[in-house]
Amino acid sequence: MSSSGEPRKAPPGSVWVCQACGKYSKDRFGDDPVKSRGWDASCMLNSALYDICQLNIDEATDRVTSIKGKDADGCCDWEFEFKQPA
Ligand SMILES: [Zn+2]
Repeated sequence: MSSSGEPRKAPPGSVWVCQACGKYSKDRFGDDPVKSRGWDASCMLNSALYDICQLNIDEATDRVTSIKGKDADGCCDWEFEFKQPA
């Protein structure tokens, strides 16, 4: 499972996104309670690494609603701010 060469922690400017439910996490295994709340084993299995600027996030549900293609400029380099759990 760990032989893919992909990093467990998303590099700066990117996050793991569950393509099944839209949750996102900095840690692929969901170990950080703030940055990966609700993330579970199925999210890990459905996850892929995306640049943050590719993501459209619904503020109300705090889920990724759609994923844009990368632009030719190589996208963004800003760090995503995770909201604190309510
Ligand atoms: Zn999920």
